[in-house]
Amino acid sequence: MQEFLGEIPLEATLPWDHVDTTVLKEFLVREWKRAMKAKLSPACEKPFNKFNRPFKRDDKLICYDCGCACDLPHITEERVANHENLLRISSKPGLRTPLAPAPKEAPVLRYRATFSKSGRSRFISHLDLSRGFARAFRRAGVSLKYSQGFNPKPLLAFTPALALGVEGAREAVDFQLGAPASIVDLRDALNAALPGGITVEAISVVPQGAPSLAGDVRSALYSARVPYKLERATMIPGKGSGSVETMPFNEESGLRAEEISAGAEDGESPGAIASGDGAFAGPILTDAAWHRGRVEAFNAAGSLMIEKRRKGAIVQVDLRKFVREVSLDHAGETGGIGLSFSVAFFEGGASVRPEEVLIGIYGFLPRGCDIVREDLRFASALPRPGTEPHAAEATIASV
Ligand code: SF4
Repeated sequence: MQEFLGEIPLEATLPWDHVDTTVLKEFLVREWKRAMKAKLSPACEKPFNKFNRPFKRDDKLICYDCGCACDLPHITEERVANHENLLRISSKPGLRTPLAPAPKEAPVLRYRATFSKSGRSRFISHLDLSRGFARAFRRAGVSLKYSQGFNPKPLLAFTPALALGVEGAREAVDFQLGAPASIVDLRDALNAALPGGITVEAISVVPQGAPSLAGDVRSALYSARVPYKLERATMIPGKGSGSVETMPFNEESGLRAEEISAGAEDGESPGAIASGDGAFAGPILTDAAWHRGRVEAFNAAGSLMIEKRRKGAIVQVDLRKFVREVSLDHAGETGGIGLSFSVAFFEGGASVRPEEVLIGIYGFLPRGCDIVREDLRFASALPRPGTEPHAAEATIASV
């Protein structure tokens, strides 16, 4: 045992010595001796005494002659070329263009931007959206204010998170700047730097003491296009707070008795979708009258309970507390039916997701629904940027 656990002489032959790692044993011994003397070895392939600075072709690079015989002249050329390329990119017009100075008398540095999130960007999560905005500000050359403390973060505050896959027509973000900025230039610079599908429509100044977006929001207006050919979407139970865990168990959201009996005779009928116990054999073809029946049943229900996961526990939530009425639009539209509904936000941000409302209406989540959060309603009477873009911007620019 002592043989295996004891100190091995430096000159001893090791069991893995036959493996050619291209690094010389002498180099490792030299480094070990330096480590024993608590000496640091700066990273190789870098110029002497010029860390974190661009280097030139004639700079002497650190090399410990480790034996791997890397191509230092080639590495130097490559790095100089990369550095020059970066300089070329950053001097392109439209990127990091200095913003026009804002009027000096502008006293408020908290701003609110209204933006849309559509197309492929609807699959960007709330966390990534926040990161995307922070990066866009950096690319636009705008200095955001950061929180204090050990882990400072940019002071960005968004409206309640959109569910993944749901588009937002009029989302909002509050931010604070380190210096006043021209609003029109700021909007253009952000749009040039944001990912495709996210467009800032307008920016306005938020008065001192105005409530936060999350604390001020009272309801969200959604529209959903549901295909006539209904299939049940596969749902992956989430672990996060508020994720849909199970289907609604309230009988009122299940199919009507005549639909279930029709399913026994006809393979492609509403009865094939669900029978209240979660059995499903879809797809089925529906029409406007069928959807109207579902919506009327939802509106007539006194309560519609669903189960949600909140802070690791399953809780029962009454959908009807959050959604007063669902309207049926575009009944004649081919390919699908249009629904619109308003979802309330209660104290602490308690709310339900639009997919859960669809589950409440149909008894399952239909596949292929296009859901858009069209607008948000707030308790305070603050003007929303983008309501009258030109007039609003003219007013703001003169603040
Ligand atoms: S040969 Fe290359 S990898 Fe090895 S020490 Fe020198 S610079 Fe570093």
